[in-house]
Amino acid sequence: MGRVGPAPLPDVADAIRRSMRANRSRNTAPELALRSLLHRAGYRFRVNVRGLPGTPDLVFTARRKAIWLHGCWWHAHPGCRHATIPRTRTAFWAEKFARNRQRDAENEGRLRAMGWNTLVIWECEIKDMVAIEALIRGFLGLARHTGVRPASGAGQAGRKGGHSFIP
Ligand SMILES: [Zn+2]
Repeated sequence: MGRVGPAPLPDVADAIRRSMRANRSRNTAPELALRSLLHRAGYRFRVNVRGLPGTPDLVFTARRKAIWLHGCWWHAHPGCRHATIPRTRTAFWAEKFARNRQRDAENEGRLRAMGWNTLVIWECEIKDMVAIEALIRGFLGLARHTGVRPASGAGQAGRKGGHSFIP
């Protein structure tokens, strides 16, 4: 991610560490918790599929549905207390976060244009597994391809950030 300037202050160094973590790591605790929930609910999926725009974290090929699990800080979750901007080099970070958000939106748009349904789950939402399960069932429909479609919009109520999906 390039140079960050001379003598970085502690909050910048911390911000960089967090961004590297968000950028590079897979198999984070929230991701593992989400996968385990999906397995228990009977869904089958692939992870980190590189052939698709934005490398979705979870891909349900037969359903043509994909889920991203976004870190709130790196992906600038709107209205989220984790989406902070460092106090130094504020313009640099604000621009970086704006680019990240734009890239996310473009990736979602490209995947939808290919006929896929997409869903973004935010890391801060993972702590409420009951809500997440409802959200996922609403998005994916019943497990094991029973052919029954869920009511549209199920599980979306009250979420921050205005993300929506089109079942
Ligand atoms: Zn958040």
